[in-house]
Amino acid sequence: MMDVLAPVARHVIAPAWARWERSPYLRHYRRLLKTQFDPPEVIRQRQWIRIGKIVRHACRSTAFWVDRLGQVGVDGQRPITPEQFQAIPLLRRRDIQSHHREMLSSAYRGAQLHCHKTSGSTGEAVEILVDEAAQQFKRGCTLRSDEWSGWQLGERIAAVWGNPEYLKRGWRGWLRNALLERKTYLDTLKMDEAQIAEFAARLRKRPPSLLMGHAHSLYLFAEYLRTRDTPDIRPRAIISTAMVLHDWERRSIEDVCRCRVTNRYGCEEVSLIACECERHQGLHVNADGVYVEVLRPDGSPASAGEVGMVVVTDLRNLAMPLLRYQLGDTAVMSDRRCACGRGLPLLESIAGRVADYVVTPEGKWISGISLTENFAVMVPGVAQLQIVQETIDRMVFRIVRGPDFGPASLDLIRRLVEERFGPSVTHTCEYVDRIPQEPSGKYRFCISKVACRCHERGPRELILD
Ligand SMILES: [Zn+2]
Repeated sequence: MMDVLAPVARHVIAPAWARWERSPYLRHYRRLLKTQFDPPEVIRQRQWIRIGKIVRHACRSTAFWVDRLGQVGVDGQRPITPEQFQAIPLLRRRDIQSHHREMLSSAYRGAQLHCHKTSGSTGEAVEILVDEAAQQFKRGCTLRSDEWSGWQLGERIAAVWGNPEYLKRGWRGWLRNALLERKTYLDTLKMDEAQIAEFAARLRKRPPSLLMGHAHSLYLFAEYLRTRDTPDIRPRAIISTAMVLHDWERRSIEDVCRCRVTNRYGCEEVSLIACECERHQGLHVNADGVYVEVLRPDGSPASAGEVGMVVVTDLRNLAMPLLRYQLGDTAVMSDRRCACGRGLPLLESIAGRVADYVVTPEGKWISGISLTENFAVMVPGVAQLQIVQETIDRMVFRIVRGPDFGPASLDLIRRLVEERFGPSVTHTCEYVDRIPQEPSGKYRFCISKVACRCHERGPRELILD
């Protein structure tokens, strides 16, 4: 069935709704469409002006930043220099948890703020308050990059996602979804075969332009279509978001849906950070919303092509300024200019999360992604695998067994553990029917409880293979 409502939703309903909400996001979006092609120097200069503005504001209206910026000689009177900016101590989750009140700007006391909550890898919640103007600006940024996928505002969306948002907002949420957002959901927190089959049937009846969701949930959906159903769902665009997209997941999704996957990277605290454009050669940083640094463990900037920690500065949120916030992700910065002509800086790739690294007793960091893939490929009969590092010398392997699993598999695991982690590390195997999801609906294949603690103290050496 043709999507006759799409142009109406785009050209009539969306502008009318934005006017009714008094939201300027479409105005931002239209301007952002033009400025994305500005030369890199112009974009960098604009970012630097925003940094100056946000630093001044933070110095004048938040007790926390007055103190912290004072430590590096910034008082909000004279403009901050790049050297001073790079000397600002990295902001960690722990800081936000313990200084939440002092981080809130006095200029926004009593204002209506948007609350962005995240549970994070350690399970301790962090709450960021975002002002209305920043929220709407970010909405414009996200719309711009979502359209790089080939989808257009107003067209139907199929979301493989936990906790459908609109259900929480009563009739107004329902109406907004029916007319404007036009999303149909597969709730990944209740994902079983019957639910997936029903979702697929819905998509056949009303084909979406865009299929979006967490990387691994999209992969599971694609694999379901390929092995148990008919691989005939053909969206025009696919956006994978909120977790690392592995190459094998991308291949499977693209193969089944015959459509390129657009990889998007963001987090609850600052929203969109970077997104692939139609060229799919790296991710363009959302330079209008955030300033991104990729740092070595010693805090110096990583070179292009080198894996480092992601540190973001929110250029928009004045209610609760976030300067040099260490997210706990690792990424690779690029010095290439994308062939699409956009001047927005590029990230080569998102490598993973610091918490997804296993730390050996010798203090080496091993990438959990390659580790899990390595074990799953080498050990016969492993259908799926989750590695959990409980303590520095104890690992748990949660295994979904395939038909070939046997004594030889256990032998090989024993050998690989010794080879990879050293002789002092012990391990146990647990057999499960499936790898459980996180409460957020995300999947994780390597969880290191040790790396989380190291990350809180500041990482040591990152070793990647
Ligand atoms: Zn590009």
